[in-house]
Amino acid sequence: MTTARKIKEFVSEQYPYRTEMHAHTKPVSGCSEVPPEQLIEIYKNLGYHGIVITNHFFMGDVFSDPSRSKEEKLRWYLAGYEEAKKAGDACGLHVMLGAELRFNENFNDYLLYGVDYEILSDAFDYLEQGLSVYREKGMPKRGVLLQAHPFRSRMELADPSLLDGIETLNMHPGHNSAVGLAIAYAKENKFPITVAGSDFHHINRGHEGVAALRTKVMPEDSFALANLLKQGDYVLELGGEAIVFP
Ligand SMILES: [Zn+2]
Ligand SMILES: [Zn+2]
Repeated sequence: MTTARKIKEFVSEQYPYRTEMHAHTKPVSGCSEVPPEQLIEIYKNLGYHGIVITNHFFMGDVFSDPSRSKEEKLRWYLAGYEEAKKAGDACGLHVMLGAELRFNENFNDYLLYGVDYEILSDAFDYLEQGLSVYREKGMPKRGVLLQAHPFRSRMELADPSLLDGIETLNMHPGHNSAVGLAIAYAKENKFPITVAGSDFHHINRGHEGVAALRTKVMPEDSFALANLLKQGDYVLELGGEAIVFP
C-alpha cells in the first residue's frame, strides 16, 4: 500500500461518517431534476451516511404567490425535506434539514444549518430585508450561515462579519465556483468554518456525491450539525476519494 493510501485510510477511519452538505430536490428547488426519494437512493448507494437537504429558500414563484398563505408556502418548502427524511429513515440514510437562502437584495446564496420550521418561518420574514438585518435581528445564535460558492458569477462577496464562514469547495460541475480563490479568501478572512458540497441537482452528469463532510460521529440533527461545524472537528472529501483539510 502506498503512503498516500495509508494516510487516506488513517484519516478516513478517524472520520468515518460521510455527509452531503448541499443538495437540492425537485420540485421545491425548481432547478433540480431529482425527486427526494431518488436523491436518497443515489446517496445511499454511494455509501453516504447523511445528507442535508438545502433547497433554495427565496422569493421565487411559490414564495411570492399572493394566493398562498405563509404557512402553505413553508409547508410546501418543508415537504421536500420530509419526503427525503421518510425515504432516508426507510433505508438508513440520515437526513437533516438545511436551507439555501437568497435575500431579495442580490443573487447571493447562503447555506444555513441549524434550522427547523420556526427558524425558517422567521427567515421568511427577512428575505426582503437582506443579510445584515437578518443576521442582526432574525437569525438564532446557534445557527451557522455560510456564503455558498462566493466566487461564482453574479455573486458579491458578503461582509465577512455577517458570516460564520464560506462554502469553499462547491463542486457543482456546471458552474465555475473558482474554488482556489475561495480557499484563499477564506484564509485571508480567517473564516472559522469552511465546507465542501456537491450542490447536487442533476442525474447522470457526474454530479452526485462529489463532496462530503467527514465526521467522527453522525450529528443527530441540523442543530447538532451546526454545533459540530462550530467545533471544527471534521475533514472534507472530494470525489469520494481525496481527503481535504478544511
Ligand atoms: Zn439550484
Ligand atoms: Zn445550491
